[in-house]
Amino acid sequence: MEMDILKLDNNDIQIRTKIVRLEFRNPAPILSDLQDRSKELITICSSCKKVKINEDK
Ligand SMILES: [Zn+2]
Repeated sequence: MEMDILKLDNNDIQIRTKIVRLEFRNPAPILSDLQDRSKELITICSSCKKVKINEDK
């Protein structure tokens, strides 16, 4: 993905993004709507799928 951030005259910014390449990824079962879940939230990187397991990492 490419992203341009432009400063506008009124001090707003304009963000433009463009997808330049798509890759197929196998589904991650942990993200399936069919999984039983607790109410806890987890943080997963959308690019590399690393899961945040504590506040430091
Ligand atoms: Zn990542």
